[in-house]
Amino acid sequence: MTDNAMPLGVFTSAGAGLGAAIEKVVQIGAPTVQIHAPGPDGRTPERAEQIAARFAEAGVEISLVFCGFPGDRYDTIPIVRRTVGLVPPETRAERIEQTREIADFAAWLQAPGIGIHIGFVPEDWDDPEFDAIVHVVADVADHCAERNLTMNLETGQETADTLLHLLQTVDRPNLAVNFDPANMILYGSGEPLEALRKVGDYVRSVHCKDATWSESPGEEWGVEVPLGEGDVNMKEFIRTLDDLGYTGPLTIEREVSGERQIRDIKAGLELLREIKQELGIS
Ligand code: MG
Repeated sequence: MTDNAMPLGVFTSAGAGLGAAIEKVVQIGAPTVQIHAPGPDGRTPERAEQIAARFAEAGVEISLVFCGFPGDRYDTIPIVRRTVGLVPPETRAERIEQTREIADFAAWLQAPGIGIHIGFVPEDWDDPEFDAIVHVVADVADHCAERNLTMNLETGQETADTLLHLLQTVDRPNLAVNFDPANMILYGSGEPLEALRKVGDYVRSVHCKDATWSESPGEEWGVEVPLGEGDVNMKEFIRTLDDLGYTGPLTIEREVSGERQIRDIKAGLELLREIKQELGIS
């Protein structure tokens, strides 16, 4: 636990085994962590107690539990559109149930909230599917509220205007945003800093991730790159967060694996430390 503004963090998957995940976070030296929720078999109160105890022992605060579903696929943007989150109708009902279970698990961990990619929210607000998603999000947000959790929607799959309209329409005090500036570029859904200012009042967590634009934004992926090497402008990103009064964790997400991931995250943490210092954030 740290009382510094914008404590540093890392996003980790317990997919390779929880021990490895904790070791990695400790090795990297981040005081906070966002974790992917384990699969259905691992979502028990006993398991939550074990995980909470191990992170507490390591002095690492769990800042968010991220949802993922079997069948989510990120190969191409059209595949994401068909497979990811709560939007695809075929898997919606079962995934709402899984999201509720993940929220229960997050509450057992005493984490403050869950993060989720809900999928591609229709840009046409009169589309009946938009209204359907409003009800889905309200339902899950209310389940979270009963457990004293926020529900943080990951950015990138829709424009900031559509995300803002969704947040305002659902209108729940515990509904929030996990702002990922690189996703705005990767999905081609808008200039990240402009988007951040639009939804800024709702931002309760962020991913520090960088990317370069594709030649055909919205059709083909941009490229995720080490922090500071892409088109986000990390210094302006942190400055804008500070202007908005954001004091939550700066959680690095680096979507490569192995030694390269650890090296890039360490360099990213160093970059964030420098930026915080230059901006007088402590
Ligand atoms: Mg992200």
